[in-house]
Amino acid sequence: MAARVQRLSRSMLKTLRDDPADAETTSHKLLVRAGYVRRTAAGIWTWLPLGKQVLDNVSRVVREEMDAIGGQEVLLPALLPREPYEQSGRYEEYGDLLFRLRDRKGGDYLLGPTHEEIFTQVVQGQCASYKDLPVIAYQIQTKYRDEARPRSGVLRGREFTMKDAYSFDVSDEALAESYALHRGAYQRIFERLGLDYRIVSATSGAMGGSASEEFLAPAAAGEDTFVNCPSCGYAANTEAVTTTVRPAEATGHPPVEELDTPDTPTIETLAAQVGVPASATLKNLLVKVDGEIVAVAVPGDREVDMGKLGEQLAPAEVELVTADDFADRPDLVRGYVGPQGGMAGKAFRYIADPRVAPGTAWVTGANKPDTHARHVVCGRDFEVDRYLDVVVVEPGDPCPECGTGIELDRAIEIGHIFQLGRKYADTFEFDVLGQDGKPVRVTMGSYGIGVSRVVAALAEQSADAQGLCWPRAVAPADVHVVAAGKAAQTELALEVAERLGEAGARVLVDDRPGVSPGVKFTDAELIGVPTILIVGRGAKDGLVEVKDRRTGERTELPVTEAIAAVY
Ligand code: ATP
Ligand code: MG
Ligand code: MG
Ligand code: MG
Repeated sequence: MAARVQRLSRSMLKTLRDDPADAETTSHKLLVRAGYVRRTAAGIWTWLPLGKQVLDNVSRVVREEMDAIGGQEVLLPALLPREPYEQSGRYEEYGDLLFRLRDRKGGDYLLGPTHEEIFTQVVQGQCASYKDLPVIAYQIQTKYRDEARPRSGVLRGREFTMKDAYSFDVSDEALAESYALHRGAYQRIFERLGLDYRIVSATSGAMGGSASEEFLAPAAAGEDTFVNCPSCGYAANTEAVTTTVRPAEATGHPPVEELDTPDTPTIETLAAQVGVPASATLKNLLVKVDGEIVAVAVPGDREVDMGKLGEQLAPAEVELVTADDFADRPDLVRGYVGPQGGMAGKAFRYIADPRVAPGTAWVTGANKPDTHARHVVCGRDFEVDRYLDVVVVEPGDPCPECGTGIELDRAIEIGHIFQLGRKYADTFEFDVLGQDGKPVRVTMGSYGIGVSRVVAALAEQSADAQGLCWPRAVAPADVHVVAAGKAAQTELALEVAERLGEAGARVLVDDRPGVSPGVKFTDAELIGVPTILIVGRGAKDGLVEVKDRRTGERTELPVTEAIAAVY
């Protein structure tokens, strides 16, 4: 058999009739049922042969497009020393999201959630002059994040595959170019993969830095909500929309003041407002609206960067307080600044007024099931998922750009690109020798794609009532040949598969003995290879049936014609 022919009679494939009990999303159900993945532990998945092929196909497209923009592929360890993350502050910032471990000598390690620190150190070791830059380096590697609520199968794993790329430049202009290169590469990648996607403005979260955009794949199973203007094309993750912050109508809460972007205070104005020096860090934060305390954010045991707060907060009245100041206010909910954010901006994700009904809040971005928030009320910790499904802007709200009524949609975050700036170069004092002989601080970008998540996103977008239905670029095969049953049919099916394989097609041939034709047809639909070729009754006359998985269209053709038609 040609190398590209996979015989199901010799594979360990096992499809399941029933959805896994805990599965909520289409991709979770179907990827398990069709034998692509198996759960090993919560948020930890095994890729079975079919799944591994789809994963590899996605990786290949990603790799080709990264190479095309001059990306240099490397492979960094996933097991990392604590120190670099300690230096950047992320060892603490990431909080519970980080898998931490200790070696036999008592040394602290972590499993990499993303690799800005290590890439910076690696490239710093290789590059000493402006002549050595720009550099784009990337890897396709396993990442670890102890997500609070791993669910939806491989959509949100605690172990998952990410393509993470990093650019290193000597000037802001050069960084903007590297960013644009990645943006273009991402467009080509998602185009080739057959994904429906949008590019939206985003917040930079735990990465730090300024400009940032997300690539979102619209899907009901998505955990992100984005604003979309049908008129001018404005699109932004609700996490990044700070124009209107107000309680949901239903709560009867008085409207919170509008936060309008033109007046977004700088660190100085905010610092002046709260009466602390601009250099100060804010430990606890009290938000008053109309003189009334509405929320308190307690940034865990980590201090909050005032600058970041300044970007997020605006005219709402803010005071610096200590925990004691609100000790007698059990009605207030204290948000714990989780690892996801680790940033003050994100702190606000966790501020919630207990008067706001479950399922609503007026805090931007508090819409994620992975929100790593814990609330402390009456001294007791509990998860905040009842605040998680939050809408901060509503359909019909005016678009910040043109005033037209906006739309809101759910989507899966499949990629995220950032202009990091000098945050990590500052941490590690990464300078190169400039053209004028003086040291220049390097500026960076970071660019992620959730490779394993893309598999789930594709499944979500393409599945139908019969099962998975892959775009050809990622499908585990081009053609799924079904031998209906009789020995002669199996023989012909194997011959057809062989000829297709020789022609260069990737073929799956269902030659399983003792499996009924009905089960084989159902499995073919479930597995979702784009073309199904059935060798059945017509075989004795040299005829086979070609079926398009998506449209269901069937044509009966002589073998040779069928082979030419499908590949
Ligand atoms: P999310 O908002 O969904 O938690 P993130 O913003 O934390 O994702 P990034 O730090 O931007 O993720 O990582 C880059 C990419 O890695 C994301 O755009 C996403 O596609 C993917 N990714 C992140 N977390 C996971 C996960 N737990 N499982 C699978 N893919 C993930
Ligand atoms: Mg996350
Ligand atoms: Mg995100
Ligand atoms: Mg992100």
